[in-house]
Parts: sequence; structure tokens; C-alpha cells
Amino acid sequence: MRLLVLLALLLCSCSHGTENLYERSFYSMGSTVKLKFYSPSEELFHRVVDACVKRTKEIDRLFSNYRDDSVLAEVNRNAGVAPVSVPTEFLRLVRTSIKYSELTEGAFDITIGSLFELWGTETKAGRLPGRSRIRDALGCTGFRKIKIDEVKSQVFLDGDCVRLDFGAIGKGYAVDEMVNIARQNGIKRGLVNFGGNIYAMDPPAGKKFWDVGVRKPGSGSEIISKLDLVDKGVATSGDYERYFEHDGKRYSHIIDPRTGWPAEDVTSVVAVSKTATEADIFSTAVSVLGPRGAKMFARKDKSLGFLVVWKSGKKKSCFGSYACP
Ligand code: AMP
Ligand code: MG
Repeated sequence: MRLLVLLALLLCSCSHGTENLYERSFYSMGSTVKLKFYSPSEELFHRVVDACVKRTKEIDRLFSNYRDDSVLAEVNRNAGVAPVSVPTEFLRLVRTSIKYSELTEGAFDITIGSLFELWGTETKAGRLPGRSRIRDALGCTGFRKIKIDEVKSQVFLDGDCVRLDFGAIGKGYAVDEMVNIARQNGIKRGLVNFGGNIYAMDPPAGKKFWDVGVRKPGSGSEIISKLDLVDKGVATSGDYERYFEHDGKRYSHIIDPRTGWPAEDVTSVVAVSKTATEADIFSTAVSVLGPRGAKMFARKDKSLGFLVVWKSGKKKSCFGSYACP
């Protein structure tokens, strides 16, 4: 579960012209998918949602680390042993992940699996991971340990302890895929929300944008920020709902791949980007790098925006295209 839940508030009447607003939710990968689409017919709407359900199942079968029969599980089982032939889609997301590892100075890194498992098992056993275990797990981390054979469509993890984890990109990717399905079926106006990973498509007719409210961490419904969105992805990362706990202290579920320790500086990050996939990636990367990262990414790409809530929970800062409340 995510730290912040983004509330989508519709600034619209629910019907106009020949299009009507339809809404449907379903459960996938441990979170709820909420779909709001303007469609010329109810029949088309349900057909599109059915296709979205099917698509998320396919994505789960490729990238889930909760099931033994996913492609990811097979790649991880063969770490240090043998290259695994993978579907093109799997290879593509691995390639995308490596590209963003390079762009984020390694702050976003899908080889975080070993460290993540270590923090999970040790804190569950009532202790913090020892220095030597962290050092060992750091030795199993690093996106350069992923070897890709484009011609054979194979992935090899260079080290028997290397483990991939798509937890910081999978839901954002699934959101973009659902938006593609809607567009391919002629639906242009809509809002897709997958456990706080959002994409706002064209706004309702007569409106300039979708108005998306960002909830205060831990609060029921208090809105700390509002976003006016069209053709943009949004994601939140933080330690409020998902965390490791030891001795009453909470540790972020986002690990700094440079130190092997959970990210410390910020409570939560909201990222706005061109796609939901990018927003997902950058919200995680900025959680690791802090405001310095937000400043750096926003300077390089003007479409990026960040809201960073500092650890104290009192202070927040905005960067790039994010207009601070
Ligand atoms: P998110 O909520 O999108 O920030 O993703 C957090 C999840 O991604 C965690 O639960 C881990 O499964 C995984 N993860 C943790 N740290 C990192 C990291 N530095 N880079 C990539 N994935 C990470
Ligand atoms: Mg993420």
C-alpha cells in the first residue's frame, strides 16, 4: 500500500453530449484499480474494463514477485546459473529500468531484491540487519549485473544472489497499459488510478483538467495539495503505509541502493510526469535522493514536478512543474 492516497475529484457534470461517465473498480496485485472513463456506451466501457483486467493479469504473470510461476520468478531462480528466455515485454521493461537507473544515479534499481528481502526477514525476526549481511546484499545489488541478450531475448543475472524486484515501476507501467487500451478503443477522457499510481487522460468536456487531490499522510481525507492534470501521470512513494518496523521505529520500504539502508530523509514524494511509469520511477528515486534529486531531475526535464514532504511531516517543498499549495 502506498503512503499517500490520491483522491480524484471530478469537476464535472457526469454526462455530456453522447458520452457518459462510467466507473468500475477491480482488485489486482494487492491494490485496487479504479477506472473512470467517458464512453459513448456502457457496453464499450465494460469491454474496455474487461480488457484492462486481462492486461493486469498478464502483467502480473510477467513481473510478480508473489507468485512462483511468473517470468520474474524464473529469472530470479536462474540467477548466476543460466540466461532465461523471456517475452519481449519483459525484456522491454528491464531495458527501461536500466535506462532509468542510469538517469537516477542508481537511486532507482530493480536489483534491489536481495536487500529488500534482507530487511523484510530481519525486521520480521525482531532485529536490524547486521553490517556484514548488508554488505553481502549490497554485493548482490547493481543494475550492471543484469545482462541482456537482445538477439536471443534472454536475461541473465550475474551473481547467484541477484534478485529483481519491479515493485517501484510495475503499477505505473500497468496504468499506462490500461490508458493505451482505452485510447485504442476510442476512449479519450478518463482517469486511471491503481493504488495511488494515476494517469489523467483528456478532461471531461467543458473542463480544462482533472482535479486530483493529494491526501495528507496518515490523515483520513485532509487534502494537502491539488493538482490540475491533463495527459499526466502521478505517483506517490513514502513510508507511511508500507514500512519495516523495529523497536517501534519505522523504516521506509524504499532502500537506498548505495548504502543498503532504507531511505531516511523524506516522508513522502509525489511525482508528476508524462507517463505513469515515469512518475512511479521518479517518486521512488526522489525518495532515495531527497530534494537534491528532485531539483536535478526537474531541471533536466521541464515536464517533471515533485512535492517532497520532509521527515518531520511539517515541511514540504515543490520542484519543477509542481505548483506548491
Ligand atoms: P514505490 O512505492 O513505487 O516507491 O516502490 C517501492 C517498492 O519498490 C518497494 O516495496 C520495493 O519492492 C521496491 N524498491 C525499494 N527500493 C527500491 C529502489 N531503490 N529502486 C527500485 N525499487 C525499489
Ligand atoms: Mg515507484
